Amino acid sequence: MKHILPSLPYSLDALEPLIGRSTLEIHHGKHHQAYVNNLNNLVPGTPWEGKSLEEIVQGADGGIFNNAAQVWNHTFYWHCLTPGGSKLPDGSFAAALQRDFGSMDAFVDQFSKAAATLFGSGWAWLSADAEGRLVITQESNAGNPMKSGLRPLLTCDVWEHAYYLDKQNRRPDYIADFWKLVDWAAVAARY
Ligand code: MN
Repeated sequence: MKHILPSLPYSLDALEPLIGRSTLEIHHGKHHQAYVNNLNNLVPGTPWEGKSLEEIVQGADGGIFNNAAQVWNHTFYWHCLTPGGSKLPDGSFAAALQRDFGSMDAFVDQFSKAAATLFGSGWAWLSADAEGRLVITQESNAGNPMKSGLRPLLTCDVWEHAYYLDKQNRRPDYIADFWKLVDWAAVAARY
């Protein structure tokens, strides 16, 4: 069973000007594709042959984990964004944000800090725990909260390749634009 690169859920220029076409061409077409290729090269002859991507992310370590998680994380990230963003959440997810962070603004502030202060490459996550409580975590490199029993709801890729062409070293500017593209309907549906 070969792992495949899922198509982007929008066109390459759909997130312009906040995330440019060149970024998506390279981020999806080169980086995400490379993780898929690496995984397909590493898996044959190991116990992970024939296993789903989720099973590999939850159970593997080393290079197989790193590449599998980067495949999963990127697919999830693309589906956290939508051209033009979407209206702010309401319903039970909005109530949970209010309950666990005090307000929407406080949540955005805490998540932005987690994304901005993650040293080196990695991902900021919003997840739900087994009781439905919302938690923000920082994960280095390919880290994924499913490893800790959490259910991912939203992620921001803070590897430099996610923003360097658009923003050079200005990660906070990328994070500010990230909020303008979040697909809240998709995030709330995961909750
Ligand atoms: Mn990336």
